[in-house]
Amino acid sequence: MKITKVQPLVCNGGVRNWVFVKVETDAGIIGYGDASGWPGEPVIAAAVTDLAHFVVGEDPLNIEKLWNKMYYGSTFYGLGGVVNSAISGIDTALWDIAGKVYDTPVYNLLGGRCRERIKLYTHCDSFEEGDSPTALASKVRQIVDEGFTGLKTHLAAAVKPPRIEKLNRSLDRKVVQDTAAKVAAIREAAGEEVEICIDVNGMLNVPTAIRLGRALEPFDLLFYEEPVPPENMEAMKQVKDSVDVPICTGERLYSTHSFRRLLELGAADIIMPDFQKCGGITEGKKIAALANTYYIPVAPHNYNSPLSPIIDAHLCTSLPNFLVLEYVWPDVEWTEKVITPPAQVEDGYLQLPEGPGWGVELVEEEIAKHPYQRSILLKGVE
Ligand code: MG
Repeated sequence: MKITKVQPLVCNGGVRNWVFVKVETDAGIIGYGDASGWPGEPVIAAAVTDLAHFVVGEDPLNIEKLWNKMYYGSTFYGLGGVVNSAISGIDTALWDIAGKVYDTPVYNLLGGRCRERIKLYTHCDSFEEGDSPTALASKVRQIVDEGFTGLKTHLAAAVKPPRIEKLNRSLDRKVVQDTAAKVAAIREAAGEEVEICIDVNGMLNVPTAIRLGRALEPFDLLFYEEPVPPENMEAMKQVKDSVDVPICTGERLYSTHSFRRLLELGAADIIMPDFQKCGGITEGKKIAALANTYYIPVAPHNYNSPLSPIIDAHLCTSLPNFLVLEYVWPDVEWTEKVITPPAQVEDGYLQLPEGPGWGVELVEEEIAKHPYQRSILLKGVE
């Protein structure tokens, strides 16, 4: 069997765009992958097209060889988000093909299931207008009533209207207090059994991150996500060593090499690789295994496409150190129309699909109805 064609399929998904990857073979078997990332979806799609020459003509079942061919053939591109997203998209399409060839779900090729369904957490705030206390409590109760046992709030939503000095990464004392008050209100509405996380999106400097972290200590958070930007892991460790709240980071780290540094430094309590960006299933399994040697759990970042949680579920069920998977509510009504069957979320858990490969197929006719539109998020987090 040989790969005959590799093609990106870009679909508008509301506030961002999804970058799917279609890999075709001379046996008629088609694999679908996910290279979604933002901003720069057209750049990721171009990288997918460019990387095709590494794999066309090759046997799609030699995934490890093809991963290394793409990765080490791309080093002069700069091994950041764009190239690793493109590799992730092609890699995940190859795993779908492998599952279809062997007529089994992908998780059976990864060591089988450690668990029968995948625990999710979701977001409870609005980036657009911020949240009134009443609206926030109502949304938290709705999510908890649906069965979710994990919630995430964002500093970006807590400081609406914008009260952050974007360039010097600082917050006034009042904003720190208001953010802690928002977390207290979420705890009050959610009850004692729900895990709460806060994502700072790497917006703070070190002293401000420590100040906010200390203000959050009374709330027994599951994690404090990206308190500072991801490039300087020593700075992340400085925050981790100064606050009594578990630090989670990794959505903007790529390949085992970045995670090796993070883990060796001891700069994270929990890691959150994004399997559509870090190198796909092939690299994601290794990143999780590295973390497991440090007894560190994996809470994957997932803010991608309707296919991405399905792909993640196959890998997460195979990981002994899986903790919880991020799940984001659909922005647009066609979210569940671009895959068939749609994802099954019940009581805060994602059900593992049955059937070979991912157990779902992309609906290309639906994808074609929603062409790329520049993401509204490109204006940046204010
Ligand atoms: Mg984040």
